[in-house]
Amino acid sequence: MSILALIAQQGELKSSALEAVSVANQIAQKADMQLIAVYIGPPLADQLKRLEGFGIEKIVVFESEAVTYYQNDICVPILQKLVTEFDIKVIIGSATSIGKEVCASIAAKLDAELIQDCIEVDWDDGLQAKKPIFAGKIISDISFTNMPAIISVRPNILPVIRNREGAPEIIKREMPHVPHAKSIKNIVREAKSGVELTEAKVIVAGGRGIGGPENWPVLQELCDVMGAALGASRSAVDAGWIHHTHQIGQTGKVVSPDLYIACGISGAIQHQAGMRNSKVVVAINKDPGAEIFSSCDYGIVGDLFEVVPLLTKEMRKLLS
Ligand SMILES: Cc1cc2nc3c(=O)[nH]c(=O)nc-3n(C[C@H](O)[C@H](O)[C@H](O)COP(=O)(O)OP(=O)(O)OC[C@H]3O[C@@H](n4cnc5c(N)ncnc54)[C@H](O)[C@@H]3O)c2cc1C
Repeated sequence: MSILALIAQQGELKSSALEAVSVANQIAQKADMQLIAVYIGPPLADQLKRLEGFGIEKIVVFESEAVTYYQNDICVPILQKLVTEFDIKVIIGSATSIGKEVCASIAAKLDAELIQDCIEVDWDDGLQAKKPIFAGKIISDISFTNMPAIISVRPNILPVIRNREGAPEIIKREMPHVPHAKSIKNIVREAKSGVELTEAKVIVAGGRGIGGPENWPVLQELCDVMGAALGASRSAVDAGWIHHTHQIGQTGKVVSPDLYIACGISGAIQHQAGMRNSKVVVAINKDPGAEIFSSCDYGIVGDLFEVVPLLTKEMRKLLS
């Protein structure tokens, strides 16, 4: 019986991959199962060393430039075969947009139980998980009743713990030829959107208070100085000031950075559903009665067009 950890990549190993492997290691130890990992992507030779210390017995590696970008119809048949070959009982991946797609697809193929976006995973005579529901107001306790069971873990929530000796055995496999309907040649990213929101350690987010799309550079400059990702409220998105991929909240992305700086955001419950797991929240709002002040760690009552440039200036001094 084994656990399979899915190693996410985007040209390099994603930090969420290490979190998923770390969770898989803890479950493998408690459930006394062997830990197998699978990597499907472009050659990453040196980086696979980062997967030492998690008790992975084997990493099955399918390297090809053809899967630099994730392709469901290539990856899912590979995973399906590994489940049989290694008698996989639990699959653990990351709750990134691609990770959730992989987990859902393999769950459908295996007719397996699936819980996405878990914030805690444990083994106590069976697999258990915690998952926020109702916009994060309730944490549900879930026990799996059947195997195989599949879990995706919310990025940036669980610690990366290396507590085992030894390097994994690397098993290189030929990329199977799978006829597929589409192939992705390139993904064009928006300029300056380098840091993926769901995995960002720092997020600077703007709402209706930024006043118009011409004012994003004020927040973008702070993002650049702090290496932060740029987020937005739904009002800013609905106004057409920024693409929906930046939206945080109930109908946007759920994020859990170390630091969340909300600028000109009132703090509606639907927005908080997406960011209330942030470790430290700083709110900048000119209305002292804004809802966001009742749930932030540090509140600055002021005009964001005065406060943010000052913050940027101080951060530049501190971080340079
Ligand atoms: C089903 C449903 C789903 C939803 N999903 C989401 C979601 O996913 N994400 C989301 O964000 N919302 C969502 N909403 C919308 C949500 O209810 C709020 O309408 C929205 O979050 C408000 O956005 P805002 O805070 O940017 O705008 P507002 O509520 O208009 O707040 C703007 C704030 O900016 C402040 N401000 C103005 N000028 C300045 C300035 N110069 N300096 C400093 N502060 C200033 C104001 O004091 C105010 O507090 C959803 C709503 C529904 C009904």
